[in-house]
Amino acid sequence: MHKKLFIPGPTEVAPEVLAKMATPMIGHRSKDASNLQREITEKLRKLMYTANPILLSTTSGSGLMEGSLKSLTSKRAVVFSVGAFGDRWFKMAEANGIPADKHSAELGKPTTPEIVDQYLSTGKYDVFTITHNETSTGIMHNLEPFADLKKKYPDVYWLVDAVSSLGGVKIDVDKLGIDVCITSTQKALALPPGMAIASVTMRALEHAKTVKNRGLYLDLVDIYSYIEKKDHQYSSTPSLSHMFALNFQLDRILAEGLENRFNRHFEMAEYTRAWAKKHFALFPEEKFASQTLTTITNTKNISIADLNSGLGKLNMQISNGYGDLKEKTFRIAHMGELTMDDIKEVTSAIEKILQL
Ligand SMILES: *Cc1c(COP(=O)(O)O)cnc(C)c1O
Repeated sequence: MHKKLFIPGPTEVAPEVLAKMATPMIGHRSKDASNLQREITEKLRKLMYTANPILLSTTSGSGLMEGSLKSLTSKRAVVFSVGAFGDRWFKMAEANGIPADKHSAELGKPTTPEIVDQYLSTGKYDVFTITHNETSTGIMHNLEPFADLKKKYPDVYWLVDAVSSLGGVKIDVDKLGIDVCITSTQKALALPPGMAIASVTMRALEHAKTVKNRGLYLDLVDIYSYIEKKDHQYSSTPSLSHMFALNFQLDRILAEGLENRFNRHFEMAEYTRAWAKKHFALFPEEKFASQTLTTITNTKNISIADLNSGLGKLNMQISNGYGDLKEKTFRIAHMGELTMDDIKEVTSAIEKILQL
């Protein structure tokens, strides 16, 4: 029996979307492959509110996080971390020998525009990264204050990890002026894992051309050159299966209506937060609580493993805490295909199992 996933990725995939993964292959140098990429680009531009080029990479989201950091940093990058996924960005910098600094907020607290300003005002950096939605602590940032701040620093490039939020929350990429906005297929977009998606500004691509040692497979300039010069193709063979499913899923997302989709996520988040506060406590500062998942403090010291095996018997699964927060918190994701009925089902099942 399939367990319904309330974990922050991979998320539930609609059966008709899964079926598209089984579409017969086409040549990756064919006109059909170019058309597929072009259609996906047009639909993603709507979802991301952007006219920027769209890059796909046959990696998970981390691929384009690493690729963008490496392609764009010529002076020094500063990573603003609010948890495990911000830390990952810094590890990528270190592993690639990219000069970088990391600022960490206290867990459960957001990155503030003031701290970003302090770092950028030194003039040492040409790249800064923000985790839009930190999947470990359940913090989601309002991106507007960073967008305002960035106007003061026209030579700095802004990378946003929107892996666990894009598709569930409005991110107005062009209005915000995000240089690289990155997501994965397996979270709020509700597809199987295996592809990364990013929008990239032309000015970032121009800047990247001046950066040395960008690697090859994840070099944003190289990926873009095949889109531009080879009629929307790839230097290597992409996961066409994901592209078939993505193209179809984007139709479903646009048919739902973006506002409807974002509202559905907002309502699920509000419900889950109210439930969490009634029976446990919210881990993140409430003003910054995520719209796609809720990280709950384990105030009753329950065994999350036992809870999950109880839920497993009912064909459901939630998530324990991430990294250092493994036992201290647990997480309920409310993104992608899930609806209010699903959230009511899982929370009332938890109440029964724990006799709350
Ligand atoms: C899941 C996640 C990642 C990593 O994405 P992968 O697709 O697993 O590489 C990065 N950042 C955040 C915020 C995530 O939730």
